[in-house]
Amino acid sequence: MKPLSLGKMPVARASGKQKILVIGSGFGGLATAIRLQAACHPVTLLEARERPGGRASQLRTQGFTFDMGPTLITAPHLLEDLWQVAGRNLRDDVSMIPLCPFYRIIFHDGRSFDYWGTAEADEAEIARFEPRDVAGYRAFLAATQGIYERAFVDLAKQPFLHGSDFLRVLPELFHLGAQQSVYSFVSRYFRDPHLRMVFSFHPLFIGGNPFRASAIYSIVPYLERLGGVHFAQGGMYTLIEAMERLFQALGGEIRYATPVERIELAQRQVSGVRLADGTSLPAQIIIANSDIATTYLKLLPEEEQSRIHSWRLTHARYSMSCFLLYLGLKRNFPQLRHHTIFMPHHYRQHVQRIFDGHGMPQDMALYLQAPAHTDPQLAPAGGESLYVLAPVPNLAHGIDWQHEAAALRKRILHYLEQEAGLKGLSESIVTEQSFTPLDFASQLRSHLGAAFSLEPTLFQSAYLRPHNRAKEIGGLYFVGAGTHPGAGIPGVLLSAEITSQLVLRDLAMASR
Ligand SMILES: Cc1cc2nc3c(=O)[nH]c(=O)nc-3n(C[C@H](O)[C@H](O)[C@H](O)COP(=O)(O)OP(=O)(O)OC[C@H]3O[C@@H](n4cnc5c(N)ncnc54)[C@H](O)[C@@H]3O)c2cc1C
Repeated sequence: MKPLSLGKMPVARASGKQKILVIGSGFGGLATAIRLQAACHPVTLLEARERPGGRASQLRTQGFTFDMGPTLITAPHLLEDLWQVAGRNLRDDVSMIPLCPFYRIIFHDGRSFDYWGTAEADEAEIARFEPRDVAGYRAFLAATQGIYERAFVDLAKQPFLHGSDFLRVLPELFHLGAQQSVYSFVSRYFRDPHLRMVFSFHPLFIGGNPFRASAIYSIVPYLERLGGVHFAQGGMYTLIEAMERLFQALGGEIRYATPVERIELAQRQVSGVRLADGTSLPAQIIIANSDIATTYLKLLPEEEQSRIHSWRLTHARYSMSCFLLYLGLKRNFPQLRHHTIFMPHHYRQHVQRIFDGHGMPQDMALYLQAPAHTDPQLAPAGGESLYVLAPVPNLAHGIDWQHEAAALRKRILHYLEQEAGLKGLSESIVTEQSFTPLDFASQLRSHLGAAFSLEPTLFQSAYLRPHNRAKEIGGLYFVGAGTHPGAGIPGVLLSAEITSQLVLRDLAMASR
């Protein structure tokens, strides 16, 4: 088949329908597969694990249901858009429950802040800490609205394949304050140190360090206020199951327990994949939802790995990892909200230890989800499916998780019982499991066990993040946390939109 050159990206000239394979069924892989299948391009999705979802997996045991990764939905309109593309209505398939408050934040001095997402309630909470910061909050929301409208609504949907696209928007990004860190930006609006934490910690939700993530990422509180913070009834996994059904109803094919071992190439054009069992599947288009670094460093033939990308990906900054405990409890703790966040004693130092330190940090920051507060079906009567997340260094930081996991579990339970007021927690545990950075590496094939792929910094964003379409290999595309615009369900849904549009555009050009 004669290659047709589209800029630097040759794609095989179409003769009939092109065979499209998607590697991986995370939110990004599923959303791309749905979009392409809905556009009448037959897609086969290959997933290494037994079930879909990737980081958004589910654990069910002894009557307890746990979401293993994402627990909250922001920007639900992106899911609505996806369902619309497939000709359906999200609300017919999934019940979305708005959370009130969005979360409770508890500080080391025992004070707490409930974040409701409404002007009146939030301003009352802010005034309890520092009345003068109410005006700062209003100014902060106005500033982040401006960033949201430009950076999220416009720029996050552009593919940024060319340096010139990026150079064109750079002055504007600087004008929006992108060169500052989220924390510096927030500190311009809030005097109180507690409030600076409340409005700056959000980059951690997508693997970013608030002290160096670009101020562009300070839009999350605005985004949350705009669309609310939601939970899917039955657990977040109901979204994944609904996406799986949506794709299959459109005629898409999914093969589970089918790890891809190699992306095969012929003359710098993808020709198919080789599976772990040795069989080959031909394809003209391959969309990798697998970890970006692992894809470049392990799935592409060595002789074809672009030296630049291998170097960049080996030397890039990766997000932190997470240590997770899933605790099935025979009782609940009414003092917890659906989401409760415990801030560390020393915010800046703790974050610095997680991202840049060596060994296990000694301070404690925890995020808890108690979903049976919202949906009692998720735990046996009177019990709780408690999800505990500690952000921890990834595997580049010299921690021997085989030994340290048990010690960290013990410290977390001690902290929750002695400092966070959850007395009797240990003896109420009926069942428990953990997920460590080693599991991110082995089960999700994540480079360095990073929980959110590449760290979102200014120099790893937009054009400077791995592109949604490979420059040097025809027919190869990427979707998910490691590509533009980045991690988090909204980010990967946007990347699915960008990637599927690129594929559709390239296919249309190739068939002319
Ligand atoms: C603990 C945690 C909590 C989070 N909380 C939130 C939250 O509350 N809200 C939010 O918006 N975001 C949250 N996030 C971020 C969000 O979950 C992720 O950014 C997003 O789910 C990643 O989706 P993805 O499309 O990149 O694919 P992934 O979820 O990374 O899935 C990739 C898939 O590819 C498969 N795969 C890999 N290699 C191969 C191969 N060789 N062959 C076949 N298949 C392969 C994997 O098995 C996996 O299923 C959280 C993340 C974590 C880790």
